[in-house]
Amino acid sequence: MPGPSHLTAQSMPHPHACTQLWAGYLVSRGWPVFQLHSADRHLCSCGDTSCKSPSEHPRSKAGVQEASADPDLTRRNWDKCPDANIGIPTGVRSGLVIFAINQGHGEASFKELQKDFPDAFAARLGVRTGTGATHLYFECRSPTPSLTDIRPGIDIKSRSKKLGFRSKELGWSIVGA
Ligand SMILES: [Zn+2]
Repeated sequence: MPGPSHLTAQSMPHPHACTQLWAGYLVSRGWPVFQLHSADRHLCSCGDTSCKSPSEHPRSKAGVQEASADPDLTRRNWDKCPDANIGIPTGVRSGLVIFAINQGHGEASFKELQKDFPDAFAARLGVRTGTGATHLYFECRSPTPSLTDIRPGIDIKSRSKKLGFRSKELGWSIVGA
């Protein structure tokens, strides 16, 4: 596999391309990544059968502290553990804010928001998480607070300890295209 470029973003991989390819793509856009556990039919790779956040918590204790936009380090990490899901720090660290649409109320609220603000939600990079939520990615140029329930079932995640996820079985998608 050719390595990611330091200078130019790669073209977006297929939604169900392997996590290594996606990690390389995200790093090529300058977004730091780190490794999360993965889940197989909701059984988390951490081995805890009652894991409360399957595929959505860091593999290492350092977690988000290990996030790096170094393409070589990222490639080595995924060579070692190709099944790992991808975490992205949000907020100032990456310049990303995540708009989290939770199942149920969140989906209804999002439909209303799309009607009210069609341009804001056109063709966003989005991902389904292991818990069934949808996360949309927005670039943020200034510090933004994390907020819960800005509309019923919709949260803003922008603190660096919050994570972006890639769910192996559901993949990435462009939402609202
Ligand atoms: Zn787990």
